[in-house]
Amino acid sequence: MKLLMMGPPGAGKGTQAKKIVEDYHLANISTGDMFRESYRKKESLGLLAMEFIRDGHLVSDEITIEIVRRRLFVNHVEKNFLLDGFPRTITQAEALDEMLEVEQTKLDAVIQIVVSDAVILNRMVGRRSCSICGATYHVDYKPPQKEGVCDACGGVLYQREDDKHESVRNRLDIYKEKTKPLIDYYDAQGILYEVNGEKSFDAVYRDIQTLLETHL
Ligand SMILES: [Zn+2]
Repeated sequence: MKLLMMGPPGAGKGTQAKKIVEDYHLANISTGDMFRESYRKKESLGLLAMEFIRDGHLVSDEITIEIVRRRLFVNHVEKNFLLDGFPRTITQAEALDEMLEVEQTKLDAVIQIVVSDAVILNRMVGRRSCSICGATYHVDYKPPQKEGVCDACGGVLYQREDDKHESVRNRLDIYKEKTKPLIDYYDAQGILYEVNGEKSFDAVYRDIQTLLETHL
């Protein structure tokens, strides 16, 4: 099973991906993790990747593709994997198709978790984080016992810059602009499957399972 997961920030993609990887025994290919790992090992690609990240840029196609290539094809091609955070551009998507084609295989499914902007804004803008232990709360869905105070450690809760309305709005717009071509690309290949991400975690996961079992 070769999967790719897509979804806007706040759609719950990461937690769903983690469960799929465990339940279906897939290799989790996350470019974020690979960049950090490669950087930790002081590999030249990792060092270069970190320069982009530190400057607030997306890592270039060239470096990203090379890091993925090395991870996916160490000695043999990974037979079962879930990609997260890659590909981000059409150039990367085409490079991935080529890599897989050489091994006479291809992506089986691209799962897109769909959540409306209003729901994402509501989820993220209501988030509060503990200034001491980092625990997270939500003003409506997971309020602390005492307003503004962490249940775990008594620390003051605050709203992270990333969770402010303006910032979330901005990231959603960027996400949409960047992923639209990719969504069209996979839709044209007939392997794009949408999942409604506005339900509970368990309900969304069940829909993904049904999708995988019906189509793969
Ligand atoms: Zn705390």
